[in-house]
Amino acid sequence: MPPARILFYLATAGGVALAVHALVAEPPPLWVAIVALFAYVGLVTLGVVFARFSMFADVVTLGPRNARGVALTFDDGPDPVSTLAILDLLDEAGAKATFFVIGHKADAHPEVIRQIVERGHAIGVHGYSHDRLFMLRPPWRVRKELDQVVDRVEEITGERPWLFRPPIGHISPSIAQVIRKMELQAIGWSARGVDGWSGATSEAVARRVIRRLKDGAIIMLHDAAERGDFVPASVGALPAILAAAEQQHLSFARVDSWLGAGSKEAQQDAHDG
Ligand SMILES: [Zn+2]
Repeated sequence: MPPARILFYLATAGGVALAVHALVAEPPPLWVAIVALFAYVGLVTLGVVFARFSMFADVVTLGPRNARGVALTFDDGPDPVSTLAILDLLDEAGAKATFFVIGHKADAHPEVIRQIVERGHAIGVHGYSHDRLFMLRPPWRVRKELDQVVDRVEEITGERPWLFRPPIGHISPSIAQVIRKMELQAIGWSARGVDGWSGATSEAVARRVIRRLKDGAIIMLHDAAERGDFVPASVGALPAILAAAEQQHLSFARVDSWLGAGSKEAQQDAHDG
């Protein structure tokens, strides 16, 4: 079990013990109660924000120990211009990648989703509306969002997606509970391009990513701007990233190719914590 989850269970057990003691014996001094409450809320907040520590759900942030190649992942598409530009660049390099798509954009551009699949890439889901407050939503609302995007992708591609990247990367206990029920696998990253804002430059994005290229790396980039209002710097950065990987004799892998039967356990063993 990930150390962060053990810590969470211990903290929860401590809180319950404190409450029981207050009921059957005597309430703790006020300052003890306040410190305990803030510490608990702080711990849960850290677990939500730093989802890679797998406090609430197992998050894959690297390939398994024996993984070969680099997994490029693209969030916030599909977009009829920038996603297609990225698909062309990937084709030229013979590279396969994974796209975490937003449901309402898939509704608007189903033909781009079909292109992604036809050109050999994997599709995961990234929420229906890319709700920035997703981590604060109750389970029923999380379920509705994820059902919507999973169903939509399945309708378009004929295959039920099972890879999930949470909007803005945060995982709350509600999100963890829902993805467990839906058998969605949360995917994080080992490096990110920070290309999802309009001020990012291709050079800076390429430099940041190239430094972190290695076997088993999961790289987080964007194939579209969240609101579709600019072309993400990944489009300009990708040729340099692809060339650098080739120079280092690194191939490209789809995230799902690392998560077949048996390899999930190896992945967790190798990288938890
Ligand atoms: Zn996103």
